[in-house]
Amino acid sequence: MMSNNKIWLSSPHMGGDEKKYVNEAFDTNWVAPLGPNVNGFESDITSYLTGKLEMHAAVLTSGTAALHLALRLLDVGPKDIVIVQSFTFCGTTNPVSYQGAEIVFIDSESDTWNMCPIALEEALKAYQNRSVKAIIPVHLYGMPAKMNEIQAIADKYSIPIIEDAAEALGSLYRGQSCGTFGNMAALSFNGNKIITTSGGGALISTNKKYIDQARFLATQARDEAPHYQHSQIGYNYRMSNIVAGIGRGQMEVIDLRVAQRRANNQKYRDFFKDIPGITFQTEPNDDFYSNFWLTAILIDSKLTSGISRETIRLKLEEENIESRPLWKPMHMQPIYEGTSFFGKGVCENFFENGLCLPSGSNLTEKEFERIFSALTSIFKK
Ligand SMILES: *Cc1c(COP(=O)(O)O)cnc(C)c1O
Repeated sequence: MMSNNKIWLSSPHMGGDEKKYVNEAFDTNWVAPLGPNVNGFESDITSYLTGKLEMHAAVLTSGTAALHLALRLLDVGPKDIVIVQSFTFCGTTNPVSYQGAEIVFIDSESDTWNMCPIALEEALKAYQNRSVKAIIPVHLYGMPAKMNEIQAIADKYSIPIIEDAAEALGSLYRGQSCGTFGNMAALSFNGNKIITTSGGGALISTNKKYIDQARFLATQARDEAPHYQHSQIGYNYRMSNIVAGIGRGQMEVIDLRVAQRRANNQKYRDFFKDIPGITFQTEPNDDFYSNFWLTAILIDSKLTSGISRETIRLKLEEENIESRPLWKPMHMQPIYEGTSFFGKGVCENFFENGLCLPSGSNLTEKEFERIFSALTSIFKK
């Protein structure tokens, strides 16, 4: 039998100019410290984002670091509460725990799969007498959360929003980039994201003061002095000039990457068109434009004659094709046992019945043929 190469869920896809920027850093010995690639990558990001206001960006070692700095800037600490979308990756929640704050989890709504505005308001009412310091919605798999409704509720209770836009670079809500709505937002350039620097992230904001302060905290909070002087605890979170060079090359192809991911999503929709029991995470209307970082489906095994999420996942695995169950909601995770949760359990059903299909922008026609032939063997017997 011919051995088939592994098809990954989402693998790095270089554009070509990454090496040019990295070589420039070597040629000028700007391996360290911060340098032109860091500044260049930051301005590539801010000029790419479309919004009402001018954005500022600090590039960092990870998206998790960006969220951590955002919480530090809002002075989140023990005794405080942070309201977080439960249906997400631990990168959203870990920084809240680093700060020792209490998390209150919010369910998803069934159309965007993101933070349910109704459950959010219930939680804010219930915790009115506590110090709620931030709300963190997530644009999961690239799908914009309902930012107008979430913003209106946040404004009513005067609570800042930190957008987790780690998966949503290139996504738009009402024509405006995800990441430009909240008081601050985090982006991620981890290895499997829509663009990657091999690992990295950014904190972005319309508020320059936040970003200046984030840069300060991310470089060990060094006060101005010839010696090392510290009046605050800082972090070593700044992105290096080498890594930022990869980011510069990736920003040249971001529009293409969004188009490729969206084309993948359409291929899967065409394939499943006549198969009952399969539904997609779908843009509810023209207000939503997802980068479709990952194509995510739900399987209703009552309508698929018993074919379940696991049937599909295991069959793909047999063919050396990676797929993955949707995020396990954080309120169901052992580390957050006993934490409060508002909602009806919509995201629990997503976890039980959902699957992310291979979605890399570098998938070839041949690889799609392999994926569809495996799926055909399950559904079209
Ligand atoms: C990837 C991701 C993060 C964290 O980003 P890293 O760069 O991996 O630290 C946070 N939240 C979500 C939803 C993510 O997908």
